[in-house]
Order: sequence, then structure tokens, then C-alpha cells
Amino acid sequence: MIETDIIIIGAGPVGLFTVFEAGLLKLRCHLIDSLPQPGGQCSEIYPKKPIYDIPGFPSVLAGDLIDGLMEQAAPFKPGFTLGEAAVTIDKQEDGSFIVTTDKGTQHHAPIVMIAGGLGVFEPRKPPIDNIVDFEDKGVNYIIKDPEFYRGKRCVLAGGGDSALDWSIFLAEKGIASEVALVHRSASFRGHLDSVQKVIDLAEAGKIKLITEAEVVGLEGNGTLERVVINHQKEGDFVKETDYFIPLFGLKPSLGPIADWGFEIEKGAIRVDTRDYSTNIKGIYAIGDVNTYEGKLKLILCGFHEGTIAVQSAFAIIHPEKKNVLKYTTVNGVQGF
Ligand SMILES: Cc1cc2nc3c(=O)[nH]c(=O)nc-3n(C[C@H](O)[C@H](O)[C@H](O)COP(=O)(O)OP(=O)(O)OC[C@H]3O[C@@H](n4cnc5c(N)ncnc54)[C@H](O)[C@@H]3O)c2cc1C
Repeated sequence: MIETDIIIIGAGPVGLFTVFEAGLLKLRCHLIDSLPQPGGQCSEIYPKKPIYDIPGFPSVLAGDLIDGLMEQAAPFKPGFTLGEAAVTIDKQEDGSFIVTTDKGTQHHAPIVMIAGGLGVFEPRKPPIDNIVDFEDKGVNYIIKDPEFYRGKRCVLAGGGDSALDWSIFLAEKGIASEVALVHRSASFRGHLDSVQKVIDLAEAGKIKLITEAEVVGLEGNGTLERVVINHQKEGDFVKETDYFIPLFGLKPSLGPIADWGFEIEKGAIRVDTRDYSTNIKGIYAIGDVNTYEGKLKLILCGFHEGTIAVQSAFAIIHPEKKNVLKYTTVNGVQGF
């Protein structure tokens, strides 16, 4: 059981900045995110795009903003449970909460902040009838740790940057014993230099490039042993493999958050704008995941909401203490 003061569900920009604001009040945070890396939409959707409306930064790349937020939060030593989705919140008799993930990791705290943005990013799955039978038994939709594939035969699929970049990584560093990249078209959507790199590695015999083809079947006894590939001109053939990794992108869905008893309005959690609390005492909703009159889904608005919410959380955690606002210019940043 992971013990902390505030469990933050969602490690996007808003969740990360909330760690800093909570830290100033000497409250510890632990973040849970279904993605393998922090940063939410900024890291997952547009890391290389400049943002122009972060106060004090005329222009900042979304990925650099996340790096800065991680650095700012670091003195307060946040904990992370990454690559796991929070699936249940159970209120305890003393008013505290246990949050459990899809992998069974449990977290306990008096306060929960939902900073879930657009929700859980779910993988787009290829339409193969028995694919769920092989999930985590040879079929993976995200690569969390490339070392997991050391010495293994991998078939990747997709035409975007993710499929290209991971094929290059696994092949170039000699991690996988065999890398095949299957793509249904002859052209790719990813960056031109990544496409060229894949072609070069294919010519060097390090990647088996199978274009104008799709994986249409999965076979194995309990775990994956073979994929059936349909080539548009040559028809079906079978390829032995240890892993099939379709990287077709992720789509957001509110996911389990919708079932936790909140007032949901237009796919977002209704909050009280005095402190961004939900209808469940001790649970707050901040950032893109909440709604109220005049709501704007902007990063700077989420920063404000997290800042106000931790003040209210402090009063629940320390009802006996009076919190006096202290400027960082006066007190500095006293980490844990
Ligand atoms: C292309 C694009 C450009 C944008 N440009 C701007 C801009 O210029 N300026 C601006 O202010 N905003 C911009 N935005 C919007 C901005 O990115 C969002 O407002 C911001 O990301 C919201 O932050 P957040 O932390 O609330 O949520 P998110 O960034 O969505 O992060 C939420 C995280 O919660 C996780 N999560 C959800 N449910 C669960 C669960 N049950 N268990 C575990 N994890 C969960 C998700 O995996 C995700 O990582 C842009 C958005 C896009 C897509």
C-alpha cells in the first residue's frame, strides 16, 4: 500500500504543478497515470509544438514545459505509478480513500485530486477477433520498457512516428533479436528522417519491412507464437514471433472516472468553483477533467485550480492548523 497525503490521478501538466503547490504546504503527492510517461496531452499528443499562452514564457515547447514542471516538482519528491490506470476509489470509514489500479497497485490518502484531463488514453486496437486473448501474453499496445524485448522476436505495426521510432530503437540498439514492421500502406505518416532510417535499417537487414500488408490473425497456445499477415498482392503468410506490438495511436475516453459517483456534465466532472471540490468530500477535480460555468480547458486555468484545491485539502488534512499564505520569494522552496 502506497501511503501519501494526496493521490493525484493524472500526471499531466496540471497534476504535476499541483505537486509543487501541495509541497509548499508540506503535503506529499503520489501521481498515477495510465501512460508510461508524465506530461498528459503535452507529452503524448504535441511534445514538439510551441505553446504561446503560458505566463512568462512567450513560447515554450510542450515537452519542455513538462520537463520544467518535473524539475519544479522534484524537491517535493513525488511518487509515480505510471503505465497503470486508476480503476477504483474506495472511501474508508475514516473518510480517507484507497485508489486501486488495473494492475492491482493500491494507494491510500486522505485526499484524491482527479487531474485526468480527457481521461484514459486507450490504444486503438487492430480489428483481430482474438486479440484480447493475447493481451499481455504476447500482444502489447505500448512499449513501457524496451529492455523487456531484449533477445525477443518482435512484429510491430503502424505507420506513424511511434511505430517507426520504436522499430528503429529496438533494431538499432540490437535489443530485439528480430524486428519486423508491418504497415498497410507503402508510405508512412511519420517524420521523413525516421522513414529514411527505417528504410536504411531494412536495407542493412536489421528491420524486416513488410508494407502493403496487415496482421490479420494471431496464433499460439496460451501465449503468442505466430502472426498471420495478409499482403495485398501475395495473400496470407505466417510469421513466427514472440511479440506483436500494434502502435496505432491512443484515443482518450473518460474511462473509469465516469463510474466513481461524480456529477458528470458533458463528459466532465462538475465542481464547486470555491475550491474545485467534487460532490464527494475529500475528492477534487482540476484541469481539463472538470467543468463549471465559464470553464476554459487551458493549462494556466488548471494551474490555478490545483493551487486553490490544495489550500482546501490542507484544511481537511490539518483541521487544527491555520494556513497562512507565504510567498516563495520570502520562504524559498523547502523540499522534503
Ligand atoms: C494539440 C493541442 C494543442 C494544445 N495547445 C494548448 C495551448 O496552446 N495552450 C493551452 O493552455 N492548452 C493547450 N492545449 C490543451 C492542454 O494540453 C490541456 O488543457 C492540458 O493538457 C490539460 O492538462 P491536464 O493535466 O488537466 O490533463 P491531461 O494533459 O489530459 O493529462 C491527464 C492525464 O490523466 C491520465 N488519466 C486519465 N484518467 C486516468 C485514470 N483513470 N488513471 C490513470 N491516469 C489517468 C491521462 O493518461 C493523462 O496523462 C492543447 C491541446 C492539444 C491536444
